Amino acid sequence: MTSDLRPEKPILLWLRRDLRLSDHPMLSAAASSGRPVVAVFVCDAVVSGYGAAPRWRLGEALRDFLPRLEALGCPVVLRRGPALETLKALIAEAGAGAVWWSRDLDPAAVARDSAIKAALKAGGVEARSFPGQILFPPWEVKTGQGGPYRVYTPFWKAVRGLPVAPPLAAVSQLRSGPALRGVALADLGLGQDMRRGAAVVAKYARIGEAAAQARLAAFFDGPVTHYKERRDFLAEAATSELSEHLAWGEISPAQIWHAGARALHDGAAGAETFLKELVWREFAWHLMFHFPDLGTKNWRADWDSFPWAGESAAAERWRRGMTGEPVVDAAMRELYVTGRMHNRARMIAASYLTKHLLTDWRIGLKWFEECLIDHDPAANAMGWQWVAGSGPDAAPYFRIFNPASQAEKFDPEGAYRRRWLAEGNRHAPETARDFFGAVPQSWALLPGAPAPPPLISLAEGRARALAAYAARESAK
Ligand code: FAD
Repeated sequence: MTSDLRPEKPILLWLRRDLRLSDHPMLSAAASSGRPVVAVFVCDAVVSGYGAAPRWRLGEALRDFLPRLEALGCPVVLRRGPALETLKALIAEAGAGAVWWSRDLDPAAVARDSAIKAALKAGGVEARSFPGQILFPPWEVKTGQGGPYRVYTPFWKAVRGLPVAPPLAAVSQLRSGPALRGVALADLGLGQDMRRGAAVVAKYARIGEAAAQARLAAFFDGPVTHYKERRDFLAEAATSELSEHLAWGEISPAQIWHAGARALHDGAAGAETFLKELVWREFAWHLMFHFPDLGTKNWRADWDSFPWAGESAAAERWRRGMTGEPVVDAAMRELYVTGRMHNRARMIAASYLTKHLLTDWRIGLKWFEECLIDHDPAANAMGWQWVAGSGPDAAPYFRIFNPASQAEKFDPEGAYRRRWLAEGNRHAPETARDFFGAVPQSWALLPGAPAPPPLISLAEGRARALAAYAARESAK
């Protein structure tokens, strides 16, 4: 029996990375169906597999979003457990005829959702997934040969003229299904691994759909004009800062796309560059959909024999922002304190780890995954492989960022470094001191200590990386 024959049965709306009311295809469809609904959040293995900071940020997003959903008449239930079993129990308790969700293209979520869809359908329950995480379905954007794009520029050319449906209005009412018993948000313990870092990161995070819309408006009110020229300057607030909202679906990419397209139409300088960046995100998700190993394996198999170093004392110093290379350390401190990092700083810090320290990109990827409140599995994987040289459309390996000259160029007054480094900085601002309040006490770091000595000289690190690369080339 299909659910269409029993339309009054409630729909379970399974919430994941889609925590907004506007431009939400699943919620809009639920509202117009007129059927009773119950929203559910399941803390399952996929969720507990997120890093500490993303899990904390997800908890904050839920804290903001769930009451807004309840205010529309939609009961919300939180549970912990394996997703399929938990959903089956909820279906039985609610007498539900359907489970709906917004697609999440994270490979772990795709594997889970495919199995759940099959199992629910086999049990006669409607299982329906909706778009909203990205702009274009990955299976529809194909090269002339019919395969996925592997290079960004042709991808951009292929998608820039494609239609993107106008954003849907915010849902204003839902028909209540039965209230079910669940656990309290605090009992899910989503923030527990942040320990004392939570209070520090909370100062810098901005949570929820209203904050996302405010950031969107503020960006298109000014910074977009200078985006192309200023976005690389480390100390400036020249970018949109929308990534932490995109990661949890507090804003949809289509809402951003349309705002960018309007700005472009109105002649805003920088709007096209901005749209291209948004399409880098899209490209990353398309790559991850077609190559689900993007976050775990070298995209170019000929990198498998490269002698990356594994875990080491140097990698630990990198994580702690103690490499002695000021701009790298500032970047790592920014990450730990705010849960975010400037894009150029991500490239500099990643290049230093993979090239000057010859360390496996997956070690860096994991640390970003642990610390980023805007953690996005696709952008993170693509970013790391791009910098390391092993990825699609990657920077050639021999192009090694020199942190000192990057700092000179993109932090000419040293403002970024002063903002994040307390050692050797007599008038360290609160931002720099926050690091010492956030890190585990076992790290035994002190703001007044002298700046750490460099792990390796930049010239030596560069020469060593080039020699390793040359050896790899000749062994091919
Ligand atoms: P803006 O400059 O305002 O750009 C607007 C949006 O475009 C961003 O919010 C983001 O969604 C997208 N975007 C911009 N640059 C990129 C890019 N290079 N790749 C993919 N999408 C982009 N971004 C994440 O959202 N999560 C991550 O986990 C992540 N990890 C990264 C790891 C490395 C090693 C590198 C080099 C980059 C990574 N990025 C990641 C991409 C980029 O650094 C961030 O998206 C950007 O810094 C977010 O700031 P913003 O929102 O102000 O960006």
